[in-house]
Amino acid sequence: MTGAVPAPGSVTLIGAGPGAADLLTVRALRVLAHADVVYYDRLAPTDDLAAWAPHAHLVDVGKQPGHHRVPQAEIDRLIVASALAGLRVARLKGGDPFVFGRGSEEVAACEEAGVPVTVVPGITSAVAVPAAAGIPVTARGLSKAFTVISGHDPLSELELSGLARLGGTAVVLMGMATLGHTAIGLMRHGVDPRMPVGIVERGCTERQRVCIAPLAEILTASAVQGMRSPAVLVIGEVVRLAPGAEERLRELAGVAGTA
Ligand code: SAH
Repeated sequence: MTGAVPAPGSVTLIGAGPGAADLLTVRALRVLAHADVVYYDRLAPTDDLAAWAPHAHLVDVGKQPGHHRVPQAEIDRLIVASALAGLRVARLKGGDPFVFGRGSEEVAACEEAGVPVTVVPGITSAVAVPAAAGIPVTARGLSKAFTVISGHDPLSELELSGLARLGGTAVVLMGMATLGHTAIGLMRHGVDPRMPVGIVERGCTERQRVCIAPLAEILTASAVQGMRSPAVLVIGEVVRLAPGAEERLRELAGVAGTA
């Protein structure tokens, strides 16, 4: 039902893209224009929200890492209760709602309550944020696979060994707190310490920053540059394609070589 306006008493999960206001989809804007209430997240672009959703009550349910401001169960309860009260509910989430967004839990909560729910996909940071730094997740001859994995909890030995053996590109979301564990683990499972790694912080926004280093140096380089969440970690040969990457990698290889 492309273009359909949501009915009163329904919930629409909307992917808001990776952070730039103009990376929302046309469908997302159409749903917001008719929303009565918008529950939005920390990573969704919100500067223009009042203009996009002029009739809506805007509710921040965003979470800071480690400080869950509104627990997931409460968000589920809020969207369902608003829909049952007859409102057109928009649930605006960063990136794509079904990529680590707990979108499926919100869909399940609506279905359990008998509330009609639809999902508007969004541009995921897993692909768009590397691209914003000039890193393609696949490239002919360099990488024919990309694995998107959550670094929220430390990667298991099986996951590390799987990534190491598959090759291609590894894209780690929520991976800053576990960066050291990931880097050391991948080397232990045979990934070349010279494998290029890129960290892209606040990609697709005006505050985007990039840190590039070989796997063996990435933890130090990231600390020196003060890289912080939200950031996407990209591990693979494709990182070489980012502007300035080769020079940077040569510089750091020199540092490592003389150390
Ligand atoms: N559903 C989202 C991901 C939610 S998990 C999506 O599809 O993009 C949250 C993680 O996404 C962050 O910890 C970070 O790793 C990543 N992320 C989201 N937006 C980002 C941005 N603009 N820059 C860098 N990382 C981002």
